[in-house]
Amino acid sequence: MHNDISEILFTEKQLADRVGEIGAAITRDYADAADEGIILISVLRGAAIFMADLARKIELPLEMDYMAISSYGNGAKSSGVVRILKDLSSQIEGRHVIVAEDILDSGLTLTYLLKNLSSRQPASIEVATLLRKKTLAQAKIDCKYIGFECPDEFIVGYGLDYAERYRNLPYIGILKPEIY
Ligand code: 5GP
Ligand code: MG
Ligand code: MG
Repeated sequence: MHNDISEILFTEKQLADRVGEIGAAITRDYADAADEGIILISVLRGAAIFMADLARKIELPLEMDYMAISSYGNGAKSSGVVRILKDLSSQIEGRHVIVAEDILDSGLTLTYLLKNLSSRQPASIEVATLLRKKTLAQAKIDCKYIGFECPDEFIVGYGLDYAERYRNLPYIGILKPEIY
């Protein structure tokens, strides 16, 4: 285990198993939707690893696309007001969108994103989040697919960073508070 990690929450094996289950569920749920086209969307950069693994567990034709956004304001808490730095390359009108998220905390970022994407008239839109924090103040978001509930700690690994580090850890763990 990395020296800066106090506890491993989800091992590489647990992550792979759960991502496999979500992929199988999506494969079942969208079996009749493939004609319109499925498009997996992730917000860079945290969700990229989850989406790459998830995509390989969905046994249907699909497209992958990416957005980059930045939150306004400083501070560690998200404000929910975001600016699009890189928009999708594809049109999503009439297609089935699945947004892959790394972690849902306040839910403000995702609320904004879903509103933005819905205005483009997709055939459907659902969220697959790898993690959902047990936070009291959380925006009500319907997540069809949730990997794991996790404690309200600062966690890193499997795509999640602190100051752009730790994304390449194969597991998810709690970062020691003295590091940040
Ligand atoms: P929200 O708008 O839901 O509060 O913020 C969600 C985003 O904040 C996530 O997509 C992620 O980038 C970041 N975030 C929230 N909690 C954590 C955490 O515990 N660890 C890391 N590395 N990022 C987090
Ligand atoms: Mg994210
Ligand atoms: Mg980050």
